[in-house]
Amino acid sequence: MLNRRKFLQLSTLAAPLLSLKNMASNGNAQTKPIVVSTWNNGKEVNAEAWKILSKNGRSLDAVEAGARYVEDTIDCCIGLGGYPDRDGIVTLDACIMDEHANCGSVGAIEQIKHPVSVARKIMETTPHIMLVGDGAQQFAIENGFKKEPKELSAPAKEAYQNWLKKSEYKPEINIENKKGNGPFAPPFFDDGSPNHDTMGLVAIDASGNMSGAVTTSGMAFKIHGRVGDSPIIGAGLFVDNEVGAATSSGLGEEVIRICGTHVVVEYMRHGLSPEAACKKAIERIINRDMQRAKTLQVGFLALNKKGEYGAYAVQKGFVFAVKSNGEEKIVPAKYFFDLGVT
Ligand code: ASP
Repeated sequence: MLNRRKFLQLSTLAAPLLSLKNMASNGNAQTKPIVVSTWNNGKEVNAEAWKILSKNGRSLDAVEAGARYVEDTIDCCIGLGGYPDRDGIVTLDACIMDEHANCGSVGAIEQIKHPVSVARKIMETTPHIMLVGDGAQQFAIENGFKKEPKELSAPAKEAYQNWLKKSEYKPEINIENKKGNGPFAPPFFDDGSPNHDTMGLVAIDASGNMSGAVTTSGMAFKIHGRVGDSPIIGAGLFVDNEVGAATSSGLGEEVIRICGTHVVVEYMRHGLSPEAACKKAIERIINRDMQRAKTLQVGFLALNKKGEYGAYAVQKGFVFAVKSNGEEKIVPAKYFFDLGVT
């Protein structure tokens, strides 16, 4: 998998090939179906979702398939290959939501490979929405999910060993284009590789129905039991089939504070384009504490009922992937600050 820095270099080279229509802008109406995903891994995730969407499948199945795909991929930030918490334990967060406002969610689940499917199982077979920790794991096992070994992946082990040298608790989300020895660039991220990268995707199927899913191992080296925005409906994901859907990545605590994706969808309900809605939500974070906002990253990605999409981030570096009948591309999101030292 490409790391973020390499990806940005490649996407810069590819930029002249993008047509004007390919720019992330307001009014980029697409024909259904369409899927949009956070980050550069979103390209592969979209391809998985597309296998279902292109056969007139349900958006719910498509977003689950996309999330499952990336849960299988060893990376820093998603699935059992992700970086652990500060006790060396990988805990995963995920959620899913369909066109009827049905939703399911798991927080801090351990040793289960596909938390997004556990979330769907909760949604479809229980009267509840969210299960966490041991209870979520027990539910998963009772429902046929296999308990995987506790071992860390090789990259996670290496990153954790590095972190242990100082064991400094700095619950931070790195800013994509920031490099060097500044306060927000721990040594093991000097290559530009990220310490977070939640996968969030939202889709419209051929019938016009919207769904979304999110999956993550959350913030690297967090306190054991910490749950971010990703599995929280209205924070990491919100779908309203009449209006649109949104997902987020970045410092979860900041997203939770403003009920981020719910806010984005509400702005779209009041007539804003997806990009403008994401920008307004980001402004809420920035206006609360401008100095603090300069030290963190949050990105929102939204899709409205018409198939228009858009994103906005606190910092430069957030990208998203789009796949529809007419388009397949990675788009850099607009942003407020370009504070990176590249
Ligand atoms: N939003 C995630 C969290 O706070 C982190 C990320 O986007 O990677 O857990």
